[in-house]
This record gives sequence, structure tokens and C-alpha cells, in this order.
Amino acid sequence: MARKHPKHGPWEDPTEEEEAPPPVPCWLCGRPTGKTIVWHHPVPKSRGGRDVVPMHPICQQTLIANFSNSELQRHGMDVEGLLLNPNVRKFVDWVAKKDPDFTAAITKKQR
Ligand SMILES: [Zn+2]
Repeated sequence: MARKHPKHGPWEDPTEEEEAPPPVPCWLCGRPTGKTIVWHHPVPKSRGGRDVVPMHPICQQTLIANFSNSELQRHGMDVEGLLLNPNVRKFVDWVAKKDPDFTAAITKKQR
């Protein structure tokens, strides 16, 4: 597969190798994050939470689906506590094998 290098300027960009920032691990599942990083508030903003953690969109969706704001507030930065939830545990084990850029394509029937 030949990779084309279209010239996009009067000079060559020496940093053409798409310098992606080093991936940060997802707070929930620990995999590196993909293209889309969600900055999640472990303590909901509405509850005074100020800290944010990097997460996959799908991981954040899982948290929101399984915990109420009160529960999230109670756990706060304690991700271990969240992982004790069987649903979350199951999700993390399942998503561990997925691509970092895998998002909620769950609605698709094809594998
Ligand atoms: Zn994740």
C-alpha cells in the first residue's frame, strides 16, 4: 500500500509522521485511549466534582448506564470501587480485547 504524501504547503513539514500524543490510559479499563478521549468527571460536575480523567466514550457510557450521580459521587476517584460492580467488571473484561478506537457500534449486527 503506497502512502501518498500530498504536498500541503510551500515547505515540507518535518513532523509529518503524525505525531500523536502518547496515549493516556483510560481511567476505567486501563487500555490506551483512542482518537476520542472523553474527559470524565468521576464526581459529577453537578456535585462539585472538579477532577477529570481520560476515558473511552464507551467506558463513560457504561459508567453512566450503571451508576447514578449519587453513586458516582460516592465512589469519586475510586475506580476500584466502580470495578466491583459486576456489570462494569464484565464490560471491562469484554472491552479489553477491543480496539482503542472501538466505540459504541453495539447497535450494528455485523461483527
Ligand atoms: Zn476505556
